[in-house]
Amino acid sequence: MVDQQLLIEEAKKVVSRDDVKYVIGYKKGTYGFAISPAFAYSEEYVDKFIFNPLCKKNLTAYPILEDKLPLQRGEEEDKRKIGIVAKGCDTRALVQIIQEKGLKREDVVIIGIPCTGVIDQKKIISRFPNEPSYSELKEENGIYKITINGTVHDIEKKELLADYCTSCVAPNPVLYDVLIGQEVEPWEQQEHKNLDILEKKNVEDRWKYWEKHFQNCIRCYACREACPLCYCKECMADLLKPQWIRRSVNTSENTAWNIMRAYHLVGRCVGCGECETVCPANIPLMELNKEIEKDVKNMYNYTAGMDSEEKPLFGTFRPDDPEEFIM
Ligand code: SF4
Ligand code: SF4
Ligand code: SF4
Repeated sequence: MVDQQLLIEEAKKVVSRDDVKYVIGYKKGTYGFAISPAFAYSEEYVDKFIFNPLCKKNLTAYPILEDKLPLQRGEEEDKRKIGIVAKGCDTRALVQIIQEKGLKREDVVIIGIPCTGVIDQKKIISRFPNEPSYSELKEENGIYKITINGTVHDIEKKELLADYCTSCVAPNPVLYDVLIGQEVEPWEQQEHKNLDILEKKNVEDRWKYWEKHFQNCIRCYACREACPLCYCKECMADLLKPQWIRRSVNTSENTAWNIMRAYHLVGRCVGCGECETVCPANIPLMELNKEIEKDVKNMYNYTAGMDSEEKPLFGTFRPDDPEEFIM
């Protein structure tokens, strides 16, 4: 359990630094179990910061979206750093972005959170539909204790835990400036739910499975917007010359979109689950990401976002690469 008071104290120290613009953390949302990102420009605002197992959102998509507005004559660019609260997988995203030179290490001050897993919003909402709000939510010995209207509900952690957290490779931040509390014991990773079942299916059945899901895609691109590693200035899906995929929403174009995005994340996806969380069509995007992550591990012994000094997978050439995939 993260010491919220310590988080607030440390975030205040960061925001008060002359070389920091603002700190991004979490605050309680305006309804139900929602959590909102919080942008603190002052120490007073940091008092709104919280951290509990509902703080699932990967905030690292924000620094890369930092507005670079045209400057007025004589105006200087604000090159101060951005402070950011980050769990293990979030720091992996930062590492990956730094490897790819999307951000420089000195652009960010990382307030690292040792993570014991987060709650899947869809699971908690289906457990407590129409609940106006909770007053407290904490984890104790594998139980989530959720206080709603004065009543404490004890729920087994595994019932609400986000599926992808069970296969987390780095619950502790892999890069940080300040660590809130002690590192947690990494747990034995499990294979992502359904991966084994999916792998046992023949190609035709696997194709039917994905076709069934992709036909529901509404091409809202929420998966892209939420993903910290989807930060191309111009996405291939938006290009008209050449037009790689059409705008029409049908199974063929939707499949092209989802496969294209998955391939752009090969060796880059850090498994933070944001894409699947925000998908309004409930497409199991993490099954696709985890399958690719597994292949990358097996073929190249590579895990994305672990070391900011390392080169990204596609920037690495090894003369002894077996190149078994080349026909
Ligand atoms: S994937 Fe790991 S670091 Fe990320 S929320 Fe889950 S347990 Fe925490
Ligand atoms: S979030 Fe879901 S519905 Fe929207 S484009 Fe991505 S896969 Fe399709
Ligand atoms: S593809 Fe999904 S799981 Fe992977 S980094 Fe992007 S949002 Fe996170």
